[in-house]
Amino acid sequence: PEAIALQEIEFKNVFFRYSEDTPDVLKDVSFKLQKGDRLALVGTTGSGKSTIIRLLAKTYTGYRGSIKINGIELSEIPIGQIRETISIMQQDIYMFNDTVEFNISLGRKSISRNDVEQSASFVYANYFIDQLPGAYNFVIQDNGDNLSKGQAQLISFARAIAGNSELIILDEATSAVDSITEQYIQKAIANIFSRKTVIAVAHRLSTIKNSDMILVLEDGQIIERGNHEQL
Ligand code: ATP
Ligand code: MG
Repeated sequence: PEAIALQEIEFKNVFFRYSEDTPDVLKDVSFKLQKGDRLALVGTTGSGKSTIIRLLAKTYTGYRGSIKINGIELSEIPIGQIRETISIMQQDIYMFNDTVEFNISLGRKSISRNDVEQSASFVYANYFIDQLPGAYNFVIQDNGDNLSKGQAQLISFARAIAGNSELIILDEATSAVDSITEQYIQKAIANIFSRKTVIAVAHRLSTIKNSDMILVLEDGQIIERGNHEQL
């Protein structure tokens, strides 16, 4: 399937619950995003930020209301096409017991070794990769056990960028990283923001400041919206 040439995403009066006997965790969520926009989702734990992302990625279906990409209801868009269009960096980063190169390319045939290295440089992952024994051939252990959390995050950024997706979704991790890695992560996010349409679940002030629009969620509802100056 081919990626959708992204123009607009619209959530309109979206309600969602994870099962029929549990309450709604999204209540009347509406927002619009245009190509090139940078949207930040903020709010307390459990407020529904990751759920919004999971719905957009079709990880869960069965919402009420409307979610449209370029005016087409999500239910009409095959999951394969969504996967081509959207690249998600989850809170819990999945690492394969394989090389750094594989963990960035994921074996996608369209992604050459050169693309892998360029993507890594774009998100400042090349600095630590170059220090690893074997560099891009270094074998990562299951769960990324032989990487720091920050390094795993930088690799997941490179992975997301490598695919040339139309939309990058970043569910920012909160885990503490050392200050140098933190600087790289902030620069990486700034670079991603400069080139892509992005939805970021944001914990860092730097991410929030670089956004065009911030949605503040509480208990499944958007309680405030605006840019950094307005809020
Ligand atoms: P955090 O900042 O901790 O990541 P969040 O804003 O991303 O929080 P969500 O993960 O979207 O919050 O969760 C919203 C609500 O949905 C919470 O009440 C949570 O307990 C519930 N929830 C999340 N995932 C599931 C699931 N897979 N099954 C059932 N309930 C879930
Ligand atoms: Mg979350």
